[in-house]
Amino acid sequence: MKQDTEGAFLLERNPDCASHDERAGLIAAPGFGRVFTDHMATMRYTPDRGWHDAKIGPRTGLDMHPATKTLHYAIEIFEGLKAYRLPDGGATLFRPDANARRFQSSAERLAMAPLPEQLFVESVRALVRADRDWIPSAEGASLYIRPFMFGVDADLVPDPASEYLYCVLANPVASYFKSGDKAVTLWVSDTYTRAAPGGTGAVKCGGNYAAALVAQAEGKRQGCDQVVFLDAVERRWVEELGGMNVFFVFEDGSLQTPPLTGTILPGITRDSLITLARGMGLTVREERYGIDEWQADARSGRLVEAFACGTAAVVTSIGEVKGREQAFTIGDGGPGPVAARLKSALTDIQFGRAPDPHGWLDRLF
Ligand SMILES: *Cc1c(COP(=O)(O)O)cnc(C)c1O
Repeated sequence: MKQDTEGAFLLERNPDCASHDERAGLIAAPGFGRVFTDHMATMRYTPDRGWHDAKIGPRTGLDMHPATKTLHYAIEIFEGLKAYRLPDGGATLFRPDANARRFQSSAERLAMAPLPEQLFVESVRALVRADRDWIPSAEGASLYIRPFMFGVDADLVPDPASEYLYCVLANPVASYFKSGDKAVTLWVSDTYTRAAPGGTGAVKCGGNYAAALVAQAEGKRQGCDQVVFLDAVERRWVEELGGMNVFFVFEDGSLQTPPLTGTILPGITRDSLITLARGMGLTVREERYGIDEWQADARSGRLVEAFACGTAAVVTSIGEVKGREQAFTIGDGGPGPVAARLKSALTDIQFGRAPDPHGWLDRLF
């Protein structure tokens, strides 16, 4: 078995990698989050040793005590970023330092051991280099990377975990939404909220997703693709989708997105699009927007576009919004030009088709 090191990460090659043909078949139609690469990154934390046993090894199952704290108290955080194939055959990450910082603030909120930013970035670089043949080269396709960490103490005491396992998985992905580049329909959740002030809305933790699944299921029953959540206090202000931030585009060409009040996840796509839009000379406001205003503005034509954004699906236009008290179409109900322009500007940088004036790329090879 060949052993090598990549920064702090010992590389133990999987002796049983997928064959070239198997891999090509899997990459050709991967869906989202179902096809995994040959390797995974792992690292352990204990109070006496700190972070240790950093390794890139064969992807295998995990053996867990049934009392593993996380299975009972959801002491889990995660990240999502992508590696992109460049025109010259190389590959790059996009702003992994921003994911590393967000992972630290998520850890802090759940009273977990912080992972040094450099170890986070190194783990991702090392895994992608080991699985470089899994980075797709088809248009719009990429390698989605999922770092996550959870408490592994085997007891039912409801206090912070003291020992952790950090892992990184990778999946080749095409497009997140089945509808591809079509506009999506949103269901306005009035039964459920996603995040309350003082809660974990700004944290990328599995618990937020668990609590939103019932709303997502309700949205599906109502014939919608995704759910949009309102604030938990007034049930009026538009916050975000279960896993994507939201932008509004007005007739005068200006953009608006809800401010980061602590109940909204600070998306790296959101942040990048604000920078890109301002660079195009567009006005971007970070201000609250009410669901009632959204309906009135869509009907009057003051609002011309709305879109959702996140690493997985990049930029997705919102065509229609439905709720118990809402039913409106945005523009002609199809994808909008501002969303398309911003999506191109972002993906052109990510795939190395345009210069990278903000220094967002972290080239791997
Ligand atoms: C991850 C996530 C986003 C998008 O964040 P990006 O950094 O742009 O991928 C938005 N909302 C929620 C709830 C998320 O978990």
